[in-house]
Amino acid sequence: MASALERDAMRRAIVLSAFGVGTTSPNPPVGCVILDAGGRLVGEGYHERKGEPHAETQALAAAGEHARGGTAVVTLEPCNHHGRTPACRQALIEAGIPRVVISVIDPTSRREGGAAALRGAGVEVEVGILDDETRLVLGPWLAALEGKRPFVTLVYTVNADGLVGGLPTAARTSARELVMDAHNLRLVHDAVLLGDGQLEEGVLNGHGQDVFKLPTDTPHEASDLLASLIEGGVRSLLVDGICSLTSSFLEVGLVDQAVAYVASSGPSNASQVTTDTKHFAGLLRGFVLRDMIRVGGTVRVSSARRR
Ligand SMILES: [Zn+2]
Repeated sequence: MASALERDAMRRAIVLSAFGVGTTSPNPPVGCVILDAGGRLVGEGYHERKGEPHAETQALAAAGEHARGGTAVVTLEPCNHHGRTPACRQALIEAGIPRVVISVIDPTSRREGGAAALRGAGVEVEVGILDDETRLVLGPWLAALEGKRPFVTLVYTVNADGLVGGLPTAARTSARELVMDAHNLRLVHDAVLLGDGQLEEGVLNGHGQDVFKLPTDTPHEASDLLASLIEGGVRSLLVDGICSLTSSFLEVGLVDQAVAYVASSGPSNASQVTTDTKHFAGLLRGFVLRDMIRVGGTVRVSSARRR
């Protein structure tokens, strides 16, 4: 069991982990909070970018000597391998941490990961704390691991006549709020398949907002494209609803999440909305509503594929 304080700390760690979304791939976005022996928050951190220190290392560095005798609260099982950085379970042991609270177990660890190693070293380990909430951030990374392909978000607009258009950009709409919101969607995905068929990768990777575009010789099948992208380290892909591969993605069931910016049609002309086989009033069949918020004169409707 985790205490109320440890659950509070986990929620803080989950929020911290979200700072890594869009930059950590192929690594997961992870957050970590260190509580000292008296339960005070003495350090926190998150994994920011591939090749840079993991969340646990950042949090331990911030806590310094205060970590000794304390508790580490971390959203994903600490790693057990020495890769680009030393194994986090070793760093936790060396810092004198006697208790580690973990939300989600790393599915790649096959029960031989950091949790088992920590227990083997006499550390008390709790797992499964607030894992549903952690999945709000870690979900796409976990889904990519499980599906062996990037997590796919389809984005599009639905105008007042119920017609479907593409990703809101400055060229397509004058609603600045909408353009900024859609731009942020691009930032939090590892790659973006644009309406003109170009692939934009690493909008936030590297340093600053380094956008580079690949030539258009991308594969013509959605599944082929996803296979090559996951190979290249991409864990999440944003697909512009008007790109030529969109129907291929939908037909094979490769869209995990949809974001639709829906304009009001008004009560009088509701009959004009399209009712084709894939959409009803701009919503995808087989998808469940997750979140709705007003953005720039539209309602942004987020939905997820029914599992
Ligand atoms: Zn690690």
